[in-house]
Amino acid sequence: MPTPNEADPPAPMPHLSILIPVYNEAGNVVELHRELDVVLRGLGQSYEMIFVDDGSTDGTAALLSAIQDSDPDHVRVAFLRRNCGQTAALSAALDLSRGSILIPMDGDRQNDPADIPRLIAKLDEGFDVVSGWRKRRQDRLITRKVPSWLANRLVARISGVTLNDFGCTMKAYRRRVLEGVRLYGEMHRFIPIFAHWQGAKVAELEVNHRARTAGKTKYGLGRTFNVVLDLILIRFFQRYAQRPIHLFGRIGLWSILLSFLSFAGMLYFKFLHGPLTGDRHKDFVETPLPLLAIMFFLGGVQSILMGVLAEMIMRTYYESQSKTTYLLGEVRQGPH
Ligand code: UDP
Ligand code: MG
Repeated sequence: MPTPNEADPPAPMPHLSILIPVYNEAGNVVELHRELDVVLRGLGQSYEMIFVDDGSTDGTAALLSAIQDSDPDHVRVAFLRRNCGQTAALSAALDLSRGSILIPMDGDRQNDPADIPRLIAKLDEGFDVVSGWRKRRQDRLITRKVPSWLANRLVARISGVTLNDFGCTMKAYRRRVLEGVRLYGEMHRFIPIFAHWQGAKVAELEVNHRARTAGKTKYGLGRTFNVVLDLILIRFFQRYAQRPIHLFGRIGLWSILLSFLSFAGMLYFKFLHGPLTGDRHKDFVETPLPLLAIMFFLGGVQSILMGVLAEMIMRTYYESQSKTTYLLGEVRQGPH
């Protein structure tokens, strides 16, 4: 590879970046590059394809190197040192990308490059995010489509963003939407939600989805659980990221209240129940109330302390990165 020379003019920024994480897709990458090449050349805009090899063990890396050699002006390849997962690989591609429009897609040819021009056209209608919808999804029904349908309903409901298919990798973003977004877990599917919260305009567009013809899927039913857990986290972030004590503190206070009630109940059964009703009194050990009183009390105190810790962490987070707790649009003012 030639080393960049100080005197060389800087490489022009491509307009479009296609981001493709791949893990063991030796049967797909060559054909995918060919398909992308045809579509992207036809667009008449500058572009780059960024393949991130996610620690493949089936020879994908060598194929990607060959692809890069054959199309050095448009292809950039990054190799991760071990398998880091699709979301992490996509983050790597994002960090490397230079385009002002970013289009992630799968490396297994299930997404169709022919949809790229339509995604861009939709962005040009004035949107910041266009999310693909695999309306006729070519995957297994019971382990993939049904859980995904349920998860999508849940995500839409909880996040207030009404997309039909959050899981579709193929989406188009304006770069500014992704600035500062860090991706963890399975979160890449939730970028439209983060974007929506930041005031971006989000649209959905039906895209083609093809059955896998080579290699096999890396996921099963288990991923749905991860998605649901991420969702709980997102919900927490949406509502409480800036005031965690309000959540933990409330749980803690309720718990301590329950503890006092249990304590009062315990005293009642020992000392008042007998005289008031004529029944036999109940000893402390005869009811679960003493145990509950202690449990709720400790749980409540713990929760409040956890809230305090969360507040300290939250402040460190915002202050160390000079993040503001508000989202500034534009400031208009006179010269003074
Ligand atoms: N992938 C990856 N790292 C992983 C798992 C998957 O980069 O650890 C890539 C994979 O090569 C493909 C994309 O992520 O390009 C989607 O994976 P897959 O087709 O297995 O998921 P599905 O389409 O079945 O949801
Ligand atoms: Mg796939």
